[in-house]
Amino acid sequence: MKLRFIVMTTGYAESASTSCLIYQCGFFGNPGYSTYKEAITDLALDLYAKFYSDHLSSYENRYRLNVNKCCRDALILNKAAKFCSECGTQTHDKDFDPEEFSEYVSDLTRTTCDSYGNAEWANERDFKWWPYWAGDFIGAPKEEIIFMAENAEVILLEALLDAKPDLRSALCEDDFSSKEWEQFKNNIHPK
Ligand SMILES: [Zn+2]
Repeated sequence: MKLRFIVMTTGYAESASTSCLIYQCGFFGNPGYSTYKEAITDLALDLYAKFYSDHLSSYENRYRLNVNKCCRDALILNKAAKFCSECGTQTHDKDFDPEEFSEYVSDLTRTTCDSYGNAEWANERDFKWWPYWAGDFIGAPKEEIIFMAENAEVILLEALLDAKPDLRSALCEDDFSSKEWEQFKNNIHPK
């Protein structure tokens, strides 16, 4: 039996979101996962790719209203430009902020098909998980479902920082370790 669905609720106690998100991996032809760690890490990497593209990448966001025309031109000329040669403004990518990432994940329940963004890939990553076409979920055996009962944004942040330790910068002063991620990592489903 493979793990093919992730059902997650973000927030904790009174601030837990009303509705949960249901992700499935069959849409892109993925047969499923054998371990909780792999499955959750892939979702964390999918969401990071989207977050990077929407919030951190200066190149992807070069057409935003708050970007100077000179800086925009500098980025179009050279995707990897660190500074604008015209006005000297930094044009490199924004630093990763764990709080912003958690908020981004928590706000996904409020997105639509349109605002969820690119359907199949972002930041050169082909997605593994997909929050639409979850009809297969109805009637699926419990063994195929990963259930994050609360604080999914924290579990996903920890999974991301484990997979990409370079993001654990000075900004990540807090210890984000949670009991749930520890258990999932060891392939134990939290009760
Ligand atoms: Zn400029």
